Amino acid sequence: MSNFNEERVLSVHHWTDSLFSFRTTRDPSFRFRNGEFTMIGLKAEGKPLLRAYSVVSANYEDELEFFSIKVPNGPLTSKLQHLKVGDPIVVSRKATGTLVLDNLMPGRHLYLLGTGTGLAPFLAIIKDPETYERFEKVVLVHGCRQVQELAYGETITETLPNHELIGDMVRDQLVYYPTVTREPFRNRGRITDLMTSGKLFSDIGLPMMTKEDDRFMLCGSPDMIRDTRDLLSGAGYVEGNHGEAGHYVIEKAFVEK
Ligand SMILES: Cc1cc2nc3c(=O)[nH]c(=O)nc-3n(C[C@H](O)[C@H](O)[C@H](O)COP(=O)(O)OP(=O)(O)OC[C@H]3O[C@@H](n4cnc5c(N)ncnc54)[C@H](O)[C@@H]3O)c2cc1C
Repeated sequence: MSNFNEERVLSVHHWTDSLFSFRTTRDPSFRFRNGEFTMIGLKAEGKPLLRAYSVVSANYEDELEFFSIKVPNGPLTSKLQHLKVGDPIVVSRKATGTLVLDNLMPGRHLYLLGTGTGLAPFLAIIKDPETYERFEKVVLVHGCRQVQELAYGETITETLPNHELIGDMVRDQLVYYPTVTREPFRNRGRITDLMTSGKLFSDIGLPMMTKEDDRFMLCGSPDMIRDTRDLLSGAGYVEGNHGEAGHYVIEKAFVEK
């Protein structure tokens, strides 16, 4: 049996010149945990050209969704950005990743810190009822350079609060904190600066972070991961993985080449 399923594109949405999302069919045999990534791609001269992608859709949904960058001259995304409804797309049968609830110790507040397309895995996690059963408050922080890059804002603030399965939990427990670095906006600044200064916590009305109460998932650029990891490990927070649950877990949203 092949390690890949061939799915079909159902819809495509372009957010900006450099960001787009698409939905595909989902083979019912494809199983994943919310927060995981899989390999997806296109067949190029017979052999698939594959890249890692976080799954945006929750694991109980019938379709798959992905949120993608368009890298100028990127081997995959220079082609992927031209996807049309009905096009075939290759999706691995396996999903993996560290951004899963089981890798975190119990706590009261879950902070999901994402930059750019690093938002993707958290969209699945905020649709998971278990997230709200394990944590009193779930704080989704999305950092971008520009306001127009804050994709999915309306989904988070308008659609999810009315979702039939998780709407009540989203309304009571989810806090959305978008922040931009390069232009005026209601929240401004880099995620690490907002944490260090305490502004993030005071803006959302939660206490300064403590090892007892707060857990973190990080997904973003290598720089963002390095800075936030330094901040957390410097304060004595322990990184979790599949072997042992910790105070925080990380996944790079992409690898610098
Ligand atoms: C665990 C994991 C999960 C990932 N999930 C996603 C996802 O959900 N959505 C997504 O768009 N990409 C994701 N990526 C990145 C993805 O695998 C590809 O790198 C990306 O699709 C570009 O492919 P490419 O062949 O066009 O260019 P590549 O040759 O793969 O990348 C070229 C360069 O573009 C830059 N770059 C690549 N991806 C990004 C990005 N997402 N944001 C900013 N700069 C980037 C980097 O500098 C990279 O060196 C993930 C990567 C990893 C390791």
